[in-house]
Amino acid sequence: MATMKVAPKAEVAVMKVAQISQPHGDFEIVEREVPAPGPGQVRIKVQACGVCHSDVLTKDGLWPGIQYPRIPGHEVAGIIDEIGSAVTAWKTGQRVGVGWHGGHDNTCRQCRRGDFRNCENLKIPGISYDGGYQQYMIAPEDALAPIPDSLKDAEAAPLLCAGITTYNALRHSGALPGDLVAIQGIGGLGHLGVQFASKFGYNVAAVGRGAETEFLARKLGASVYIDGEKSNPAQELQKLGGAQVILATAPSSKAMSALIDGLGPNGKFVVIGVTFDPIEVTPLQLITGSKNIQGWATGSAADEEDTLHFAALSGVRPMIEIYPFEKAGEAYARMMSGKAQFRVVLTM
Ligand SMILES: [Zn+2]
Ligand SMILES: [Zn+2]
Repeated sequence: MATMKVAPKAEVAVMKVAQISQPHGDFEIVEREVPAPGPGQVRIKVQACGVCHSDVLTKDGLWPGIQYPRIPGHEVAGIIDEIGSAVTAWKTGQRVGVGWHGGHDNTCRQCRRGDFRNCENLKIPGISYDGGYQQYMIAPEDALAPIPDSLKDAEAAPLLCAGITTYNALRHSGALPGDLVAIQGIGGLGHLGVQFASKFGYNVAAVGRGAETEFLARKLGASVYIDGEKSNPAQELQKLGGAQVILATAPSSKAMSALIDGLGPNGKFVVIGVTFDPIEVTPLQLITGSKNIQGWATGSAADEEDTLHFAALSGVRPMIEIYPFEKAGEAYARMMSGKAQFRVVLTM
């Protein structure tokens, strides 16, 4: 009697994801098939993912053309568990991070100039494709940054957006060791900005609100604390000779406008806190002393690699609150409350 071999039914590997199905929808924990990496892509077993305020773009449908369902998350730390074809620079088992810079096209005018940060077709994890609020994530290889052994996953995650933004803005600001550099806002961005500025050898003035922030600001490396509730921060900076650089991290255009006069001659006001209101400044304020105002947006995967490496070397670490990934909704609400000290991180 002929026997017929029946192949066992292939088991489909499933994973859990936290997705948003529509603008303003709640986080839904659902099962999906574990995806396979395509050419030039890797699959990452996600270990931790930071919850960033920019996740609101996905949650509330604020990014033009975003498609649903979508899994947010652009502060991803994990382990490569499968590589697609044509991937040669990365191997399975390697710890990697993915930040805001989720891949570039290599062909646009900016990429041809090597300015990948400003790629005209920049991809963003959690917006252009599914991000890190899931157990397994697919990412293009040009979005990967290796994570040094001494950084824990949950520590590395916030460095891939909040960390790189402050680190990269400061290192390109033109400030030299010993220069007076003010960090406005001691929050998710600012508490990292103070640490990086201190490790870069600047004379760091932290501009915060309330006396209770002073102890923390000094612990993070500030040599001067200016309480915006008790004094005029611009005047206080002028008493110190004026700041060479002011890194504005707190999302308040009003507070930013009031601080511009704290710049010294040739000083630069670097804006990284996102708001939709105009910053007010007169031409005279800028002309007197030849002052600059500049915005700064994160950086490339190579910049992320530099950020992680510098943090590992120097001891810069984010202060974090950890939530299990199944509580993504709770973690997101905590981040939105503005009360987190200072970055919220999901662990898988
Ligand atoms: Zn972010
Ligand atoms: Zn490009």
